[in-house]
Amino acid sequence: MAEQFDFVIVGSGGGSMCAALVLRAAGKTVLVLEKTELVGGTTAISGGVMWIPANRYMREDGIADDAAKATAYLDAVVGDAHDAPGATPARRRAYIEQAPRMVDYLVEQGIALRRVPSWPDYCAAPGESEPGRTVVSELFDLNELGQWKESLRPGFLPLPAYLEEAMQLPDMKRTWAAKKILLKLIGRTLGSRLRGKHLCSAGQALQGQMLHAALKAGAEVRIESPVTDLVREGNRVTGVVVNAGGAQQRIGARLGVLINAGGFSRNQAMLDQYIPGTSTAWTKTAPGDTGEMIQAAAAHGAALAQMDQRVGNPMALPPDAANAEPAVVQGDLAKPHSIVVDQTGQRYMREANSYVEICKAMLARNAVAPATPSWLIFDSRFIATYPLAGNMRGAKKPDVWYEKGFLKKGESLAELAAACSLDAAALEATVARFNTLVAQNRDEDFGRGDHVYDNWLGDALHEPSQTLGSIEEGPFFAIQVFPGDVSTFGGLVTDEHARVLDEQGAVIEGLYATGTSTASVMGSGCPGAGASIGPSFTWGFVAANHAVGNAPD
Ligand SMILES: Cc1cc2nc3c(=O)[nH]c(=O)nc-3n(C[C@H](O)[C@H](O)[C@H](O)COP(=O)(O)OP(=O)(O)OC[C@H]3O[C@@H](n4cnc5c(N)ncnc54)[C@H](O)[C@@H]3O)c2cc1C
Repeated sequence: MAEQFDFVIVGSGGGSMCAALVLRAAGKTVLVLEKTELVGGTTAISGGVMWIPANRYMREDGIADDAAKATAYLDAVVGDAHDAPGATPARRRAYIEQAPRMVDYLVEQGIALRRVPSWPDYCAAPGESEPGRTVVSELFDLNELGQWKESLRPGFLPLPAYLEEAMQLPDMKRTWAAKKILLKLIGRTLGSRLRGKHLCSAGQALQGQMLHAALKAGAEVRIESPVTDLVREGNRVTGVVVNAGGAQQRIGARLGVLINAGGFSRNQAMLDQYIPGTSTAWTKTAPGDTGEMIQAAAAHGAALAQMDQRVGNPMALPPDAANAEPAVVQGDLAKPHSIVVDQTGQRYMREANSYVEICKAMLARNAVAPATPSWLIFDSRFIATYPLAGNMRGAKKPDVWYEKGFLKKGESLAELAAACSLDAAALEATVARFNTLVAQNRDEDFGRGDHVYDNWLGDALHEPSQTLGSIEEGPFFAIQVFPGDVSTFGGLVTDEHARVLDEQGAVIEGLYATGTSTASVMGSGCPGAGASIGPSFTWGFVAANHAVGNAPD
């Protein structure tokens, strides 16, 4: 081996620095190898929310929760999961036990965290939490990273806003509360710059803090260092092969290797094999989400499972250059005066459901009627009041949206149907039915608005329902909506110590995995916000503790 470390971590995702901190606290050497030129993975560009049952911040705020309640809820969401080896009862219990400990550990290490005041769990099931079980990062000063500042992957928020603040900003022309938030943000930005700070938020702040802490603790982090293979001696993984400036180099790992290299949302061949009908063009994941470490471990006998699972998120594909990326439209779908229809003009889903369920519904519908893409149909009140595909509210949209046919418009529903190549009678009937449901303030067909979460992303100022509003004031509009994603959710099968298992269910010694490289502990369910990053951090923590021999207490 060219070099030896106690522990080698592949990828700089959610759980990586968390594991590195545990290793360093135990006095072990640790190397983090990141393929791209930027540290942080999709975690850095995310909201940075972690789903952590019975966490310390809930306790501080007097919100009742405990392991039994969380277990009842998770079991209801995940189901018996007989075909989901990543979500065994033992793994679920371990997650619920270890996730709050992981958060306590991070706090002891100086990581500044908090909770989002309100983010309801996603499912109507026993044990659900209406305030939610979120843990997020405090704002972080990027300047603390010194020379590493430019090597942290940028986040999705241009302003140093907490998530609950960012969510209210689109209402700044409608409410004083939102105006006050904007002023506060401007003051915060200018004030911090005057004090020599460069604040960031959400996933970037989380990963910034983690990188800062890991470097300070003495972890070694290398960028532009793609791992191409594992070194296996007998039944033990003893290191990795890394491409170091064009040369293949073997690096030894005495205690183990942790794979935290993301999923395969950007690998079309793997999507075609495991999640047919989806596309790399619809993903918001970081560029490194190409799945080769899942394949490399599988080539060494690691079992794969739940490969058809994903963290779906509905996306639109606006054509303007500033928006070359897909735009997340989940919030758009929950707003009043809109519905989603398939290409036959039929409504088929609860549009204000969680992003994961929306995309599942789209793919399932596509098996019986063309629904990828579907159409988001809305009226003039919608376009005047709410943001659309990342663009601020108001009917004035970029010209290119109309020129390229991204935004369709019709003075009547029939005209809109023609612009979208939909059957006019079918669309008119669907809208008429929806308007009847709105009039009785009850979506008997799909239950939109029945769960507290549906209203959470709706319009707080809209009455009587925050998500149900008729579609009747022309002109009418439509955009196409795709079942995009923010991660895949299947991969290496791991046990309750985050050890990778082989096809026979035996442990591959020295090999651990976490994050979206693994078959998720959530099975095919999604209990609430943070169901990806919470587990990534937690299993990284669990793996590192196992590797250094810290017995779980
Ligand atoms: C806009 C947005 C918002 C989101 N918000 C949330 C949220 O709030 N909460 C939540 O739970 N989920 C959220 N998600 C999803 C979530 O961000 C991801 O599922 C999660 O961050 C994946 O984390 P990870 O630790 O598995 O890997 P990642 O954070 O993606 O890190 C994997 C890293 O491994 C590197 N890598 C890959 N292959 C190799 C290799 N061969 N060698 C070396 N390095 C390699 C990659 O380049 C990458 O840097 C969001 C996603 C998006 C896009």
